[in-house]
Amino acid sequence: MKTKRVILLGATGSIGTSTLDVLSSFPEKFRIVGLSAHTNSDKLLQIARNHPGARTALTGILAEQREGIDFYGSTAAVQLIESLDADIVVNGIMGSAGLAPSAAAIEAGMHLALANKETIVMAGEILLPEARKKGVNVLPVDSEHAAVFQLLKSRPHSEISGIILTASGGAFRNTPLQELAGVSVQEALNHPTWNMGIKITIDSASMANKGLEVIEAERFFDMETDKVSVLIHPQSYVHSLVRTCDGILYAQVSAPDMKNPIINALSYPETLVSDFAPLDLAGKNLEFYEPDYRRYPMLKLAFEASRKSAAYPTAYNAANEIAVEGFIRERIRYLQIAEVVEAVLQHDWSDAPRDLQNVFEVDLRVRAVTEQLLDAQG
Ligand code: NDP
Ligand code: MG
Repeated sequence: MKTKRVILLGATGSIGTSTLDVLSSFPEKFRIVGLSAHTNSDKLLQIARNHPGARTALTGILAEQREGIDFYGSTAAVQLIESLDADIVVNGIMGSAGLAPSAAAIEAGMHLALANKETIVMAGEILLPEARKKGVNVLPVDSEHAAVFQLLKSRPHSEISGIILTASGGAFRNTPLQELAGVSVQEALNHPTWNMGIKITIDSASMANKGLEVIEAERFFDMETDKVSVLIHPQSYVHSLVRTCDGILYAQVSAPDMKNPIINALSYPETLVSDFAPLDLAGKNLEFYEPDYRRYPMLKLAFEASRKSAAYPTAYNAANEIAVEGFIRERIRYLQIAEVVEAVLQHDWSDAPRDLQNVFEVDLRVRAVTEQLLDAQG
């Protein structure tokens, strides 16, 4: 494999840190040529020092410019991509802000290792055909989708009768239902198996994360929503399963460590020799059970949004982003996240976005509607 030139977006986050870790094990195979962060300029510059020659972008607002940062402001990640000649972009940006850089990478003909699930939830139907036209590989880094991607390799689509995404169940898997009304942000951040960014950890507690992943799977793998299902698997060793038309289930099993899906996406179509997180299954119990929608109303809402399609997935995502922000800032209580998202989804989002501009417009409208609801709650 010739050395791949890599742009790492969201370098200062959880995915970014795991990616830097992975790449440091393969100095001959990968070279970082671009790095982005949002506000953490100190950490961005510190990372950049270990990658001489890499260009840098800071997407958040910064009072003064700093030496060593090449692009600033909301379009900085897109400018970074457009200014470079790279083979693959790792998108580890948090939230809907990851969409425009994903589109820019595809437009530039760069392969995309995609942790940013919002890209697919909001615009998979627009960007995936575009990527195919351009010969760009969009490779899932989200561990469940990375697992399904491996399981589907060289299997015809017509032979797949279902996809089962596994879920840890999050911080409140065993919390008595009547106590959920009073849970704190700190308690929601107490994830049992995965160590991730703040927003996705709260989404794991509510299972909005799994909801986004249901939509992501439906779009990534071109499956009807009703062929995608979810099982709680507290140990997080089985990352997902597929069922073939003869009823047999195939599972992908590995330690809960993002380094595995990251290296698989980066090295695609090759599989490199690595052993980041060895898993010894001896003596381990693997449990699976159905999620309870009373505990996880956000999961039910995601299935409904996925079935309705059009702009409902974008509405689900944007409403959840605003509601989670509201929960983190203690404007609303935990259970109000789902109430607010449900109320937003009552609006009419049935106009399917025709292009990215449309998607961004819907996203903004949803945010305004959600903010109004939050104001009314306060
Ligand atoms: P983190 O919060 O840990 O990191 C987010 C990164 O994105 C940081 O580098 C941050 O910069 C940057 N960022 C934040 N806001 C913006 C913005 N508005 N515009 C541009 N960049 C921004 O998140 P994670 O690494 O946990 O998650 C990143 C993505 O990967 C999400 O879409 C998540 O769903 C997905 N994912 C994450 C997994 C994980 O294990 N963490 C697993 C599967 C998917 P700064 O530090 O400067 O704020
Ligand atoms: Mg996941």
